[in-house]
Amino acid sequence: MSKINIAIDGPAGAGKSTIAKAVAERRGFLYLDTGALYRTIALYVLRKAADPKDRVKVEALLSEIKIDLEYIDGVQHVKLNGEDVSELIRTPEVSVCASEVSALAGVRAFLLDLQRSIAAEHDCVLDGRDIGTVVLPNAQKKIYLTASPEARAMRRYNEMIAKGEAVEYNDVLRDVLYRDQNDSTRANAPLKSAPDAVIVDSTKLTLEETIDAIDKLIG
Ligand code: C5P
Repeated sequence: MSKINIAIDGPAGAGKSTIAKAVAERRGFLYLDTGALYRTIALYVLRKAADPKDRVKVEALLSEIKIDLEYIDGVQHVKLNGEDVSELIRTPEVSVCASEVSALAGVRAFLLDLQRSIAAEHDCVLDGRDIGTVVLPNAQKKIYLTASPEARAMRRYNEMIAKGEAVEYNDVLRDVLYRDQNDSTRANAPLKSAPDAVIVDSTKLTLEETIDAIDKLIG
């Protein structure tokens, strides 16, 4: 029987991961955080001190990378050549590098099969940038979740402060704008809403309100 796939795309910091996770939990579906896959490649590129914009170099490194996903108590863990890097991929440096490597066609192709095979095997909620447009154009439901850059930066900033990280709001906003620009102007699978996606703007909604709105849309 074919599986139910729900795509939640949108820009950085719109709340996709928290919301996708909550929606998946309510339905007993798997949650696939596709950004973690790009981040894992970025971590490897940073470790090799390679220029993330150097297509030839980055694509050559892909043959050295094996990514596995594991679910422990329902939480996604990502493994890079056997090492659990789930925490290490959450730094601002990796965020920026992930946005850069994700512009490369070879990187996107490398991750396409992995995403599709997980979606084919599980009822799941996937969050990303191109799930509804490229990875799963036949997903049963497509949501495009967005919010103003300032609201998204403020949420990221608050999360980082809560974790005890020393950050400045303006730096977080600059990273958000930089990633928006990169993600939406790249030639390969740019960030954009699928024509049949429902657009949800969470700028003025609380997290709970956004989860409820999306849950209702999924039906
Ligand atoms: O969602 P997250 O912030 O973890 O994604 C990190 C980066 O990976 C994004 O800025 C984007 O460039 C890239 N990405 C992508 N396609 C996806 C998921 C993430 O290009 N499906």
